[in-house]
Amino acid sequence: MWSWLQMGVDPALSGALRRRQYITNAVPVLVLTMVVFYSLLFAWLGNAALATLSLKMMAIPLLGMAWVYWLQRRGQPPHYWKACLICQATVLAGILGGQGTQIGGHHYFLFFFLTTPLVVPTQDKRGMAIVCLVCISWFCLFEWFSWPASPAVQALGPATIKLLYLNVLLSGTFVLFIALLAGDYFSEALERRIQQMASTDELTGLANRRVFYQTLAQWQTAYHVKQRPFCVAILDIDHFKHINDTYGHEAGDQVLRALSALLQQGAGYEDRVCRIGGEEFAILLAERTLEQAHLACEALRQRIAAAPLRAGNATLAVTVSLGLGQWHASQSEASFLAGIDRALYAAKHAGRNAVHLYHATASQAASPA
Ligand code: GH3
Ligand code: MG
Ligand code: MG
Repeated sequence: MWSWLQMGVDPALSGALRRRQYITNAVPVLVLTMVVFYSLLFAWLGNAALATLSLKMMAIPLLGMAWVYWLQRRGQPPHYWKACLICQATVLAGILGGQGTQIGGHHYFLFFFLTTPLVVPTQDKRGMAIVCLVCISWFCLFEWFSWPASPAVQALGPATIKLLYLNVLLSGTFVLFIALLAGDYFSEALERRIQQMASTDELTGLANRRVFYQTLAQWQTAYHVKQRPFCVAILDIDHFKHINDTYGHEAGDQVLRALSALLQQGAGYEDRVCRIGGEEFAILLAERTLEQAHLACEALRQRIAAAPLRAGNATLAVTVSLGLGQWHASQSEASFLAGIDRALYAAKHAGRNAVHLYHATASQAASPA
């Protein structure tokens, strides 16, 4: 059921086209549900002939769905108008198969006509014209040349027939309502998933490099407006290549994941931890001066050095080096990050497993007026 609704929904499609695809997939499912509903209703009314007819009608949406499914699996583009025809064929089978026009089933064609612009993409003018024309033609035909119902329908009695007429209207509206809701719901859920995929590092689940630069820009704006101090630390694993070479790449990945969890746990509620390169991480420390951030980074470094990390079957003592700087508006973002990078490399040259600070020069460090 879920894979049917997802069928042909390509994340590369635009939002509007994805929504149409979801509605297209949802409508035959709803039509199938309606057919089952009618079958149960007729059985409840004690009309076995109509209950059986409705059950037989299930074959049409099922066959249609199987056919569209088969086409989609072969990589064919979405088949909006074909899905419309599946629904129409089902109603037509009901009318011709005995219900006639007496219980108003042909009004479904008007309903399909109205929903066509929601289902068929506006660019597909030919598909749109075919569906609209077919819908209107069927409706006019049955409206002008009423089709007699079978004796099985006549046996229901005039009061029940009136109720069924009303039911056609209600169930049509219900199908449209649910289809629209499903289209919106699934489209939004997918949108969120795409957004999340675009901002998350796959291996560690941390925010990625893109988020780092975005957040940095946002925090710079907040600094201008509210003078909110913040610091940035860049962290690099010591001798990571050695871990990879000795224990294998998979073990290296395990270390990256374990370290990411440690960083996430050690970071404050407002801080952001991002993976900005292979074994390089950035921590944005909110509301902290250089001295405060230094204490936090020292604590983090010691915690990592003291925590044994698993790599394959081995347990390793991993250390990290950090460069840390506090943002001042008098410098450019590039020179700020370059300064932190220099501090990181100073930490590496000094023997690793250390935090080194980037102090902006006196003129650069001047606070904005
Ligand atoms: P240093 O202490 O100077 O930082 O030494 P290093 O060995 O950590 O530094 P180097 O930059 O030489 O090595 C980084 C290694 O990180 C090289 C690369 O193969 C590895 N690496 C990068 N991304 C990944 C990854 O996603 N998974 C694994 N397992 N290794 C990665
Ligand atoms: Mg590195
Ligand atoms: Mg390294």
